[in-house]
Amino acid sequence: MNNTPFLFALVLLIVLTASGESRAAQLFINELFHNDNFPETYTKPIPREEKPMLKPTKDRPKIALTFDDGPDAFITPQILDILKETQVTATFFVLGEKVVRYPEMTQRIFDEGHLLANHSKTHQDMAEMTNEDIVALELEPTSEAVEKVTGYYPTIMRPPYGSLRTDSNRYLAENGWKVVRWSLDTFDWDSTRNAPENLIKRIEDFHHPNAVVLMHCNGRETVMALPRIIEFLKELEYEFVTVADL
Ligand SMILES: [Zn+2]
Repeated sequence: MNNTPFLFALVLLIVLTASGESRAAQLFINELFHNDNFPETYTKPIPREEKPMLKPTKDRPKIALTFDDGPDAFITPQILDILKETQVTATFFVLGEKVVRYPEMTQRIFDEGHLLANHSKTHQDMAEMTNEDIVALELEPTSEAVEKVTGYYPTIMRPPYGSLRTDSNRYLAENGWKVVRWSLDTFDWDSTRNAPENLIKRIEDFHHPNAVVLMHCNGRETVMALPRIIEFLKELEYEFVTVADL
């Protein structure tokens, strides 16, 4: 075997690399050894299936799954099982009165890395309340209940029914609350259109980067649809984040 081209290329490679021209050196080497003498492993392209299939995180679209009205003892654990199985992080907008009733489930949500957020204490329509009452009667007792269980005090809130006056929006923002609604309603709360295939279709039709997806800890349909929803979004390389990380 004639080593002369190799030695020549090696010298050139060193010179070009030293002068900051490593790309040019590579191109030259590739050109020079475009023959059968060069070991195959040096020139063979990496097969597509051996390349990482997921794009770097910074290039992937984000999406936030959110689950309202929990925790409970029946649906919430099934949702948590699916999220754990699929390694998906989500946000749970919990009700204060249910946090008091199901502290273990609240703790489990927290322990498994999901974000706990405030969805009021009693699911009152906040449009009917004074700003002071919204905070004192609904928000603070809920975040205090979460804090008592987990040590974490949520300041992100979602008004029940998404219903909140403009002046309340402003008042809450001024008092350190971050109001988060949603951009994609699955309608899993509506028994006339919450068949699992309908929930999946809503996601297929309306998913978008930075979507906040509204779901609930209420019905079996959500549990039945969730694995396919996650699978579909993973096929599109969505990164699942909490609403705090959008
Ligand atoms: Zn709700």
